[in-house]
Amino acid sequence: MQKISSRLDSVQKLAENVWQFDFSCPSAFKFVAGQFVMLQIEDGQPGKAQRAYSLACPPEGDGFSICVRLVEGGRGSEYLRSLKVGDEVMFTGPFGHFVLEDSKKEVVLVATGAGIAPFMSMIPVLLESGFKKPVILYFSASYEKELVYVDKFHEWEDKWPNFSAVLTLTRPSSSWKGLTGRVQEHLKDGTFDVTDAKFYICGRREMVTEVRALLSEMGAKKEDVHFEQF
Ligand SMILES: Cc1cc2nc3c(=O)[nH]c(=O)nc-3n(C[C@H](O)[C@H](O)[C@H](O)COP(=O)(O)OP(=O)(O)OC[C@H]3O[C@@H](n4cnc5c(N)ncnc54)[C@H](O)[C@@H]3O)c2cc1C
Repeated sequence: MQKISSRLDSVQKLAENVWQFDFSCPSAFKFVAGQFVMLQIEDGQPGKAQRAYSLACPPEGDGFSICVRLVEGGRGSEYLRSLKVGDEVMFTGPFGHFVLEDSKKEVVLVATGAGIAPFMSMIPVLLESGFKKPVILYFSASYEKELVYVDKFHEWEDKWPNFSAVLTLTRPSSSWKGLTGRVQEHLKDGTFDVTDAKFYICGRREMVTEVRALLSEMGAKKEDVHFEQF
């Protein structure tokens, strides 16, 4: 663990309440895809506060990005919302064991909402390493505007034929032509071999619990299922 002094370089709105924050660090910051950092909240309020954010980019260059669903009135969210480009921001890290296992099995990733963040690091790292087995991302959101990074997924599908993204909406508009329903429903019809795959799940606690139970019912071994819950 180290103290990470960083500078906010840019902020991008990805969806209604989802933002990407890009930071640069003067001294080298090394992490493994899937890990997270702790944002040190310096908002003038009494008492130290910190919040965890997954690193949402491959570990390269001299900085990192986080992808955050800002919660109205949340201490971390309001602090992030108050930041200006050029501000100095403190983190500690990296932390966490939600990282890719060294394995020849195919890879199935399941995310809802901001749970996509660690996969924005893990997927390119895995595919750049020359991994040739199928890598399937299941990603669901309520509304189409909450499906972030879709262009990136198409770019990866074009670049790496073994990568595919299954996107589904629980509250689609009448113009939505893609899949509907919860991610669980599509996992049941998955094209992967449940006994020969590694699973990575990230998102809200309820979704993680349900997907773990479903995978277990489908025959996945406990040691093949990794998860991070927000
Ligand atoms: C290992 C780890 C990694 C994480 N990575 C990310 C990440 O990459 N991106 C990300 O956005 N978050 C991530 N989180 C969640 C993050 O740490 C905060 O909990 C979240 O941003 C809310 O913090 P806050 O200070 O804004 O709200 P708080 O002050 O903690 O909470 C304010 C209010 O909002 C409610 N609330 C908190 N979270 C949510 C939510 N998601 N939806 C609705 N209401 C909520 C609380 O119950 C409370 O009532 C991660 C958490 C963990 C443990």
